[in-house]
Amino acid sequence: MAVPSFELVSGYKIPAVGLGTWQSSDEKELEGALNAALENGYRHIDTAFVYQNEHIIGRVIKEWLTSGKVKREELFITTKLPMDGIATDKVEPYIKKSLESLQLDYVDLYLIHFPVATSERKNPTDPFQTIPTDHVAVWKKLEEQVDAGRTRSIGISNFNLKQVERIVKNARIKPASLQIENHIFLQQKELIKYAQEQEIVVVAYSPLGSPGYGKFVARFGLEAKPVPSIFEHPKVNEIAKKHGKTPAHVALKFQLQRKVVVIPKSVTANRVKENINLFDFTLDEQDMKALSDLDVGEAARVCDFKFAPVLADHPEWPFPK
Ligand code: NDP
Repeated sequence: MAVPSFELVSGYKIPAVGLGTWQSSDEKELEGALNAALENGYRHIDTAFVYQNEHIIGRVIKEWLTSGKVKREELFITTKLPMDGIATDKVEPYIKKSLESLQLDYVDLYLIHFPVATSERKNPTDPFQTIPTDHVAVWKKLEEQVDAGRTRSIGISNFNLKQVERIVKNARIKPASLQIENHIFLQQKELIKYAQEQEIVVVAYSPLGSPGYGKFVARFGLEAKPVPSIFEHPKVNEIAKKHGKTPAHVALKFQLQRKVVVIPKSVTANRVKENINLFDFTLDEQDMKALSDLDVGEAARVCDFKFAPVLADHPEWPFPK
């Protein structure tokens, strides 16, 4: 079955399910995941400059385009401006670097990855140093990338309600999408309500609760904060059983039925296939209410960006401290 899409204010469409690729930088692993995804109907891929995998994605896409198995206009590729690039003179060089790695003339969606700006680091492992930024001035540079044809749509990620509102009020080209952490335990109802009223399509990152986050923060000598597991939650399992589906299906379908796009990450072929097999069942009102009631709020935020404590001191830090 073809994957449904949501309409963006830019006039383009975003497929409701995409493949997440954060922490997928092993060449063979990601290649396998991308091929499995494209074979199973994914047409939307989410990456970022900082994931250091745009070149792998570019190579696989190129193979698919050259073989004629897929056309460029059928694909939806998102990438993101890193914190190191949130300055008016850096937007254009960074999008150009991403396009070169992706071997594309344009991306479908270009997002400001995180509202805090940092000075440019030579090495991704160098410590962060924050610098002042003006989101509106940077947004104007993103608008110029639309004018130049380097991206079809633009948006923001990890911005809080006030920050989104400021962009909306000052934009010549409205943000098409807001990408935020969103799963059963962190539902961000108020922010989603506002975004949807503004016709901004919300994309849920970490829609399965990012069980691999511990591996990431271990690199900084940290432990992920303990959060409940979606896969083990009795209510999620009960609803999954009722529909003959898996807990992952329930977590992802919950978002789709709230008109929220999902970008689950997996490098495991059978999970990649499982995560898009969402269109042969519907959660009923009772299921949706029970899942809505599992919202824990801020305490359930997994990707809290606390791996670099200096970020939280920036005036544009988006989360409650
Ligand atoms: P997800 O919630 O998508 O969880 C991914 C983890 O779940 C992986 O460890 C994966 O394992 C495992 N998994 C995937 N499918 C299943 C399944 N069906 N059953 C059991 N386990 C499963 O977390 P992410 O944090 O990766 O978020 C998804 C994407 O969102 C990212 O990859 C990235 O593209 C984007 N993102 C954006 C951020 C931003 O700041 N804008 C921040 C974080 C994420 P395995 O791979 O081993 O199969």
